[in-house]
Amino acid sequence: MTSARLAPLVLAIGAILLFAHEDSAATGRPHAKPRPQPQPPAISNDTRLLVIAPHPDDEVLGAGGLMRQVNAAGGQVRVAYVTDGDGYPEGVQLEEHDRKLSGKDFRGYGRKRQKEARAALSALGLGADAATFLSFPDQGLCKLIRTYWSERRRPFRSPYTRRDRPPNAEVLVPDTEYRGEDLTQELARIIGDFRPTIILVPRKEDQHPDHCAAWYFVVDALGDVRRVQPDFTTDLLNYIIHYNEWPSDDARTAMPPPRGLRGGASGGCTCRCRRRT
Ligand SMILES: [Zn+2]
Repeated sequence: MTSARLAPLVLAIGAILLFAHEDSAATGRPHAKPRPQPQPPAISNDTRLLVIAPHPDDEVLGAGGLMRQVNAAGGQVRVAYVTDGDGYPEGVQLEEHDRKLSGKDFRGYGRKRQKEARAALSALGLGADAATFLSFPDQGLCKLIRTYWSERRRPFRSPYTRRDRPPNAEVLVPDTEYRGEDLTQELARIIGDFRPTIILVPRKEDQHPDHCAAWYFVVDALGDVRRVQPDFTTDLLNYIIHYNEWPSDDARTAMPPPRGLRGGASGGCTCRCRRRT
């Protein structure tokens, strides 16, 4: 699976939300300037949490504890899986015992990951209605931003599943295809209908292209929602799965990986998701 190849760093970082912090005394490195510790979001039965997962497994690695907390408080939880995590040849190869792979094999792998995701949500006490699978192309979200944005071009076709659109059963907005503006509309539909009080999305600095692209699409979708529902507000929180260290952009001390797990570059992919104008 897409994230599994980067498992050590996932374990180091995945469970840590924005409000994680490590004291300088533990690291031996001085703070440039003490900062107030960020507070976790307030949770109640009014909380409506939407977790954006680029691939099945990101939601549990990044926000399993928060989902459980919201559910226990009587709030509502939804997870939008942007892709099925089906663009992972190494994983499919293992499943298929090294025979030549076809689009059908990748599509089957995606369905298997959907099933695993539902089982993971069930383990957290969430029902099947908590999951929405958008089935956009794994390893292709950045391309939708950079090249396949609008109807002026044909849709992107996944080199893995051979699909150029999600299965009909999973389409929210009619005529959705693998284009950037179509994914924005799908996410805007989910946000506008569910009206989350908290949205959890990968941080834009996440080094996996699908992850930082997910951030871009959520921000774009929020703009669409606010044009139609000007009164809509939500807390936008980040989680990070793939990165060298944590935190990365302020004066606080970097957080080393847990003992026994290596840190270092995560996948070697730097996000260059930029929409062409
Ligand atoms: Zn992922």
